Amino acid sequence: MAPQRVKGAWCAKIITLFPEAFPGTLGLSLTGKALAQGLWSLETIDLRPFGEGKHRNVDDTPAGGGAGMVLRADVVARALAQAGEGAPKDRARWPIVFLSPRGKPFTQERAQAWAGAEGMTLLCGRFEGVDQRVIDAHEIEEVSLGDFVMTGGEIAAQAMIDATVRLIPGVLGNHASTEEESFADGLLEHPQYTRPQVWEGREIPAVLNSGHHGEIARWRRAEAEKLTEARRPDLWAVYRARKG
Ligand code: SAH
Repeated sequence: MAPQRVKGAWCAKIITLFPEAFPGTLGLSLTGKALAQGLWSLETIDLRPFGEGKHRNVDDTPAGGGAGMVLRADVVARALAQAGEGAPKDRARWPIVFLSPRGKPFTQERAQAWAGAEGMTLLCGRFEGVDQRVIDAHEIEEVSLGDFVMTGGEIAAQAMIDATVRLIPGVLGNHASTEEESFADGLLEHPQYTRPQVWEGREIPAVLNSGHHGEIARWRRAEAEKLTEARRPDLWAVYRARKG
């Protein structure tokens, strides 16, 4: 049964050759519960019916030669037109994104911006990608999940939707948990511990049992700084410059 959509709730429209990949993991746990509650919604747009001819071809060989296939501009444009129905034209209110290893890297900051929009359209590539002309003509932003190449955009779309949806008020329940986690202050998060107190001879750091909130906060910040400096010199340089 399709969930009731809360009026005005954030909406993801996903253009894909594999609609059955959704909601996938987004249907589980907190994002899944929020989806069922209508705090956000998801609409898949199957690219196949927009294809050409009897076989609904969506791709063709690359101009200039080379291996693989490229998704056709005209086919993708027809799917984008359907996605655009009822969506604001203003890209700040409704971003349109092509998942692509050539895109700008996805960040927490971008997830924040997207969570503040009314919704977004995500175009999942397959094969060698999408004809450049439709990306240019529709002012589509290319965003990458990281410096690696996957076979399709569906996993990247799910990852980015997950990161965005959990920032929508009400989805996590405990709002404070997004303010203290990794990247929120330009640092990676401090290590976490839970019971048992001693596990295979390893103790929880004593300060965490002290009940002293000031000391705990100082310890956590120091750990976060240590981790960030060791693992992410790029983030550390920005943090240091900001803190003076
Ligand atoms: N020939 C392309 C790669 C195509 S991979 C290139 O070299 O840039 C096929 C599709 O998978 C892409 O169109 C994109 O939608 C998706 N994809 C692969 N890796 C990705 C990544 N790191 N981030 C986002 N999408 C990715």
